Amino acid sequence: MTGSFWLDLLFPKICQRCGEGFQNGLSNILCRSCFDSIPAYEDPVCDHCGMSLPARAFEDARLPRCRDCGEGDYFLDKVRAVGPYEGALRIAHHGFKFEGMESLKSDLAGKMISCSTPAFWEGVESLVPVPLSAERERERGYNPAILLADEISKATDIPLRPILKKIKPNKPQMSLGREERLRNPKGAYQVRSEGPLPLRVVLVDDVFTTGATLEECAKVLKKAGVAWVGAAVFGRTPHHF
Ligand SMILES: [Zn+2]
Ligand SMILES: [Zn+2]
Repeated sequence: MTGSFWLDLLFPKICQRCGEGFQNGLSNILCRSCFDSIPAYEDPVCDHCGMSLPARAFEDARLPRCRDCGEGDYFLDKVRAVGPYEGALRIAHHGFKFEGMESLKSDLAGKMISCSTPAFWEGVESLVPVPLSAERERERGYNPAILLADEISKATDIPLRPILKKIKPNKPQMSLGREERLRNPKGAYQVRSEGPLPLRVVLVDDVFTTGATLEECAKVLKKAGVAWVGAAVFGRTPHHF
C-alpha cells in the first residue's frame, strides 16, 4: 500500500466543481474530467481579449472585436485566452495562484497551448512573462506568469525572455474597480534588455481583466522596437468590469 493510498482514504479528494470523489485530477481540488471539459473559447475570437465571437459577427467589421473592446487602436496585436474566468477554470486558477499549488502550472500551460492555434505562435521569438514588482514576488515566493511562460517555453521551444521589469508597485488589478484598473498600470513597466530585442513576442499572464496591464506592457515593448506583441492568458473575466 502506498502512502498516497492511505492519504486518499483518510482525506478523500472531492472535486470542487462536480462534488464527486476522484483519484486523478489537479491537486486535491478538481477532477480531471471537470478540468478537461472547461468550455474554451473557439475561433473566431476577439483579437483584443480572446473572447469567442459569433461566427459571422464581424464579416463587415474592420477588426474582429467584441463589443467591449470596440474599434479602438490597441498596442496588443492578438490575445488568446483559454476561456471565461468561471467554473472549473476559476477553481484551477485559484489553486494555482492563491493556494500555492505551483504544480498546476503544467496543466494550465498545456491548456493555454491546446486552446490556441498554431498560427498564433508562428514566428514568435520570445515569451515575455508579465513581471511582478520585486516586493510582491518576494511576498508570494513566485510569479505565476513566469511559471506559465516557462512551461509554455518547454512545450513550444520558444525561448523565455523576461525583458520587462516592473518599476512601480501598483495594486492587484483584481482588487480594483474598472476606472482604477485602467489607470493603475500606467508607467509601471520598463524594458530591460542587453542586446537586440526580438521582433515578435507573446506576453504571458494568468488572467486578462480589463487588459490594461497587458496593453501597458505591449506599449512599452513596441516603443522599444518590438514589431508584434501577442498575449496568452489562462482566463478572461467574462465582462470588462
Ligand atoms: Zn469534477
Ligand atoms: Zn474583446
